[in-house]
Amino acid sequence: PVDFAGRIARVMTRNASKPVVNAVDRVSLSVSHGEVVGLVGESGSGKSTLGRIAVGLLQPSRGTVHWQGKPLEQLDNEASRRKQLAAQMVFQDPYASLNPRMRVVDIVGEAPVAHGLVQKKDKETYVADLLQKVGLDAAMLQRFPHQFSGGQRARIGIARAIAVQPQFLVCDEPVAALDVSVQAQVINLFMQLRAELGLSYLFISHDLGVVRHMADRVAVMYLGRIVEIAPTEELFLRANHPYTVMLLASMPVLDVGQRRAIPIAGEGTSMETIHSGCRFHSRCPHAVPRCQVDEPKLREVAPGHWSACHLNRQDD
Ligand code: SF4
Ligand code: MG
Repeated sequence: PVDFAGRIARVMTRNASKPVVNAVDRVSLSVSHGEVVGLVGESGSGKSTLGRIAVGLLQPSRGTVHWQGKPLEQLDNEASRRKQLAAQMVFQDPYASLNPRMRVVDIVGEAPVAHGLVQKKDKETYVADLLQKVGLDAAMLQRFPHQFSGGQRARIGIARAIAVQPQFLVCDEPVAALDVSVQAQVINLFMQLRAELGLSYLFISHDLGVVRHMADRVAVMYLGRIVEIAPTEELFLRANHPYTVMLLASMPVLDVGQRRAIPIAGEGTSMETIHSGCRFHSRCPHAVPRCQVDEPKLREVAPGHWSACHLNRQDD
């Protein structure tokens, strides 16, 4: 398992792989204080599932989530209530996650009042302050979600998440639904809030450019496994795992004036077709016979850089 000192959240799953198909299988991932970990991979790789487990919206069928060094099941009621507040989720589609019949003041102010972080009589001031923090006009307090643009709704979703004074946000494709120009503004807001509030993020995205810009470390998922994890620039410059190499090659080249994505070769493997060995072997250009029978484990190939591949290894 991959482990890091000073971690804030750590997820470990240990699912038996047969006969049930698991979205996330034998994964270990930690996020440290103030750290941004990017989580990338094709759709269906289990990124959202892992994110939901990390934030407590899903229970792993086996395995543990650690919060500040302690397994969740060992927290007493008060500590687990604090953890619930400290780990929040920012969703992909803010519109779907905002109650259309509630005013912004209630959408953002409901939870902090319910949890006693602010008194009811101070709710408006509290929310007005939060709206300004996320770049919205405090005068928008009484509006409903449909009265906002997509970018503004994304900001409301962020305001709602930070309203309970969290330490850790799981952001699941939080800018994917936005126009490119608006995306950049919301990304900058995330970075600014991280600095101001000392937040940690697990930032799930299929956009490698966004992840490169934001993350301190990047984890790459393939069919429910983390196949590579490394400091961001290390990953982009010296990817080790053949799947990561393919993923990076499929990244649109933005600076040549022609957006062009190289499609990833091989059939779209799904969870239903997982057999023994390396889960990537049917698509891997470097596969050797061993890859069909022996599942590679994560190994440290450079300081802090882990990869699960049999290539260039004599020792196991
Ligand atoms: Fe390819 Fe084998 Fe490495 Fe899997 S273990 S990525 S099949 S070389
Ligand atoms: Mg998803």
